[in-house]
Amino acid sequence: ILIGMLLGIIIGVLLQWSFDETNDRVISLFGLSVSFKEFFVLGIFDAGGQIFVNLLRMLVVPLVFVSLVCGVSSLSDPSKLGRLGGKSLFLYILTTCIAVTFALIMALIIQPGEGFTLPTETVYEAKEAPGLAQVIINMFPSNPIAAMADGNMLQIIVFSLLVGFAITKAGDAGKKIQGAFEALNEVIMKIVIVIMNIAPYGVFFLMAELAASVDINAFGNILQYFFLVFFLLILHALITYPVLLSTLARLNPLILLIKMKDTAIFAFSSSSSSATLPVTMATARNKLGVDKSVASFTIPLGATINMDGTAIMQGVATVFIAQVYGVDLSTTDLLMVVLTATLASVGTAGVPGVGLIMLAMVLQQVNLPVEGIALIIGIDRLLDMTRTVVNVTGDSTIACIVAKSENQLDKKMYNNMDL
Ligand code: ASP
Repeated sequence: ILIGMLLGIIIGVLLQWSFDETNDRVISLFGLSVSFKEFFVLGIFDAGGQIFVNLLRMLVVPLVFVSLVCGVSSLSDPSKLGRLGGKSLFLYILTTCIAVTFALIMALIIQPGEGFTLPTETVYEAKEAPGLAQVIINMFPSNPIAAMADGNMLQIIVFSLLVGFAITKAGDAGKKIQGAFEALNEVIMKIVIVIMNIAPYGVFFLMAELAASVDINAFGNILQYFFLVFFLLILHALITYPVLLSTLARLNPLILLIKMKDTAIFAFSSSSSSATLPVTMATARNKLGVDKSVASFTIPLGATINMDGTAIMQGVATVFIAQVYGVDLSTTDLLMVVLTATLASVGTAGVPGVGLIMLAMVLQQVNLPVEGIALIIGIDRLLDMTRTVVNVTGDSTIACIVAKSENQLDKKMYNNMDL
């Protein structure tokens, strides 16, 4: 997978360097003339990458539904579920708050928007931030099939929890259905492994497309913003999570970071914690030793509501845009940013670029010009990839902490570096 990623970057960069509008070669294919770069970038790399990401996303809904039903129905004491949910939710929200607060403080100190000259035309439209009540109401599906068709993760989680719980109460009938779900779960995990086998090619296509099409000129004078977000993302992954893991669960954080390697490459190349979910889940269960009763619940929940990397970007971006437009943020504004960023992260699923949509909500909440997003949109893709890695690392860290506290972590497996 790593080789696929590096090769993709090299080929993409070569393609980007070798061909621009002036020297692009036009080739004739089935009577159609297409440009050489377009043929590779749009025709092959983009298509290959999309097929790969679709294959992963294809598994998300069945995987979450089936494994969560299995996880809940296999709990010896279903009342544990409330505790499990409470702990996961608390830790997810806590880490998101830490992330955004930390980002705001650093951005206020470093001032990435100082001395920035505003370009003229910039347009971006904001959506409304979801209210707390709406976020809660939206968790309950009126139609579980529609929830699955739309991939609405929180609704699927609520439905699966109920099905799993009912199975434990349904006596013999429940046992039969549980067996069927267990079998289905095995089959789906096998599909994950099949897709993992083609991952090197998928990752190659994704990276080649990106490296060939990324606009290097867009970095211009926002390098400071870029590096600040990037640096904070790395710090969060290398300091906050390890500290939590070693203090709350007494686990060696280095092992987790090393075992997350493949998952991180998936997250990086797909820019989507939802699409990476099957891989995050497989790693948690088969490498980190998180029992399926915890992994099947905590990981999908995290992929949906826990986006620390995204929160970091939002913190820095808000301060950056406020500085560029010469607006002073009051303490209330800053608290508002923490609250909205956390809520927005709970209410939206991890897909590429969703962080910017959430940022629009945050900016609107504190009356900053939403057009400011246009300043950072050009370089967001690279940050999106990096923050997705942080997001999935956070999900796995919390899953380990919760599993350990519930005595559902296989320490031998966690410490086994051969896996
Ligand atoms: N792409 C990110 C994720 O899926 C979300 C974002 O920050 O845009 O986790």
